[in-house]
Amino acid sequence: LRDAVQIDLYAAEPAPMGVAGPSFAGIVFLGLANMVVFFENRKRRTAEKALTEVNLGLEQKIEESTQELRAVNDTLNEAGMERETLLQNEQKARQEAEIANRLRDEFMATVSHELRTPLNSILGWARLMKGGTLDDEQYNKAVTTIIKNSETQNRLIEDLLDVARIISGKSELEIVELDPVEIVSHSVETAKPSADAKKINISLQIGDSVNGHSIKGDRDRLRQVFSNLLNNAIKFSPENTRIDVSLKNENGLAEITVRDAGMGISREFLPKVFERFRQDSSGSGKNGGLGLGLAIVRNLVEMHGGTVSASSEGANKGAIFTVKLPFASGNGSN
Ligand code: ADP
Repeated sequence: LRDAVQIDLYAAEPAPMGVAGPSFAGIVFLGLANMVVFFENRKRRTAEKALTEVNLGLEQKIEESTQELRAVNDTLNEAGMERETLLQNEQKARQEAEIANRLRDEFMATVSHELRTPLNSILGWARLMKGGTLDDEQYNKAVTTIIKNSETQNRLIEDLLDVARIISGKSELEIVELDPVEIVSHSVETAKPSADAKKINISLQIGDSVNGHSIKGDRDRLRQVFSNLLNNAIKFSPENTRIDVSLKNENGLAEITVRDAGMGISREFLPKVFERFRQDSSGSGKNGGLGLGLAIVRNLVEMHGGTVSASSEGANKGAIFTVKLPFASGNGSN
């Protein structure tokens, strides 16, 4: 515009001779033009300012929208994760239910098999006895086998009843003051005949610091604990091996360990060894039993305020079972 004005000024008619500079009309026009430029500039600055403000507002809006989107995204992610967790939980529950079902079916099959095996033997020998054709030696063998199988069956039924009592919370203890040496020695003596049959030597070591200290517990139930551990040690050991039992005072607790040199327990099975109905199926087949003995051991030990743990260096490296029981109050400190 300024250029246009200048062109206009110079393009105006030449001033008459004697008059110096532009005419009055030119000056007014120049002033007006300057004003127009001034106002145009102001308008432009105002527009620029408004534009900057609009820009700022837009940026702020974009920032706000971005944050909102981020929040929505986070919520969606959380919802996705929650859904994933729910899905995983549902899958885990389904797997556990399937395992429980499988274990129950296996257990039913095992119970039938384990109860039928001794019964078949009892029936067979009883029929032979009734036939009256057995000589004295065979007759004696028949009676011994019938008694042995009846005892086996009796133990299986006792175990089943024990577990039923544990599940229904009805197992009760008759607590008296006991000598731990007597309890452990009794279980060792009871296990000796079946150990002898496999030429397994059981040694019992008793630490001096135990003498004179008593524990409170149910005599039969504690004997049952150590008998179960010893029977397993014998059952899962090959002939001509040894079993070491020790009883000592370890930090004010009666600590009993049963260590065998048998087939050991695999790393995978070790955490499940005390669960009921569990038997390690990875070995060379079924070993007899219902998979209840150790579940009963753990329950009884815990009812006595104690703990039981198992360790093994792996297959064929033997197993160690450790029971810790509190001494009767005022007892046990060295
Ligand atoms: P059961 O002896 O009737 O099978 P348990 O509850 O006593 O039931 O034992 C569960 C499983 O633990 C056994 O089937 C066996 O696989 C394993 N087990 C227990 N004791 C020993 C042991 N001393 N050595 C190796 N494996 C053992």
